[in-house]
Amino acid sequence: MGTFSNYSFKGEKAVVRVDFNVPLNERFEITDDTRIRASIPTLKKILQDGGSVILMSHLGRPKEGPVEKYSLKHLINRLQQLLGVVVKFAPDAVGEEAKQLAATLQPGEVLLLENLRFHKEEEKGDKAFAERLSRLGTVYVNDAFGTAHRAHASTSIIADFFPKEKRMFGLLMEGEVSSAERVLHNAEAPFTAIIGGAKVSDKILIIENLLKRANHIIIGGGMSYTFFRAMGGNVGNSLCEDDRMKTAKEILENAKALGVQIHLPIDSVIADKFDANAETNLADSNNIPSGWMGLDIGPKSIQSFKKVINNSRTLLWNGPMGVFEMEKFQNGTKSIAEAVAEATEKGAFSLIGGGDSVAAINKFHLSNKVSYVSTGGGALLEYFEGKELPGIAAIR
Ligand code: AMP
Repeated sequence: MGTFSNYSFKGEKAVVRVDFNVPLNERFEITDDTRIRASIPTLKKILQDGGSVILMSHLGRPKEGPVEKYSLKHLINRLQQLLGVVVKFAPDAVGEEAKQLAATLQPGEVLLLENLRFHKEEEKGDKAFAERLSRLGTVYVNDAFGTAHRAHASTSIIADFFPKEKRMFGLLMEGEVSSAERVLHNAEAPFTAIIGGAKVSDKILIIENLLKRANHIIIGGGMSYTFFRAMGGNVGNSLCEDDRMKTAKEILENAKALGVQIHLPIDSVIADKFDANAETNLADSNNIPSGWMGLDIGPKSIQSFKKVINNSRTLLWNGPMGVFEMEKFQNGTKSIAEAVAEATEKGAFSLIGGGDSVAAINKFHLSNKVSYVSTGGGALLEYFEGKELPGIAAIR
């Protein structure tokens, strides 16, 4: 593979796969442009080198061909503002017009292709479609970590149509891959994984894989109650997956056998209903009164989790400790976010990833106090589940 930073794009036409899957409101205005902004350093480097850029992305999940609300043309203005250059638009990613526009593109110019998923060949990983996309440019850059777990035409199949030195990760993807690798393969001990969120079933594979690598695993959030129930505790109306109790037991047994310390919340903030204005109280997490549910970790849990986090040199955090969207149940997640920030300040490497933990770290304004906040939800989870991501494998 080529190395993006060392590569001179002078005179090259770079086909760049970005993740511009941004939320739009009913007037087709962008409500959060984080993903577009994240791609700008990569695009600027290519343009400043004297290359041109052909941008390809998906937006939303169109089922049957083109639909107005998923058109990438809604992104043109924002992209022009951020890049400071005119952005040309091809209304079909692989049509005759796209070919013409790409062929006449000059150094310093940018062409945006219409939503790739308007062609069902994209998600099918169709070779001929990938080849048509590849012919638009001379070098392939993948900067879409958010879709790296998909073997789609533009995220992996296309790479085969470029020689090894002309396919590479963009700056965003490079950062994502190197921080994920640092945590999974080169973690300085003690390595603590903090796993939260609603369901055990969503996190089984990641926990199983981390059992082979982490020294400590902190388990919080709704998923912890399945563990307490599995150990014979009372969890009241808390979230509990009865069909996962066996799995929870196995995780605890495997951890013991492998010498990994599992930390479960000692106490919980309990509520009489799932509501922002619910009555609240504190209870031991393994003895929640009937009619009540655990919606956050309690002060004793926070203290004990903080101690573990504080002594760690590597931290991975996925999933909130409670229903942090409601003020009454945000304290656990907020305290853990603060602890991760403090450990980072002391020199630990911290990676935050997966939708809701990223939302949490942003909510508490701590994203610049941790080492890396991943943009890839599903992709990051699959990486930590131990799977090979097609988007990474194709480049290498
Ligand atoms: P996940 O996507 O699996 O990481 O789950 C995130 C969601 O889990 C968030 O929306 C939280 O509100 C929710 N959550 C965390 N803790 C609990 C809990 N104790 N009870 C119910 N939902 C929870």
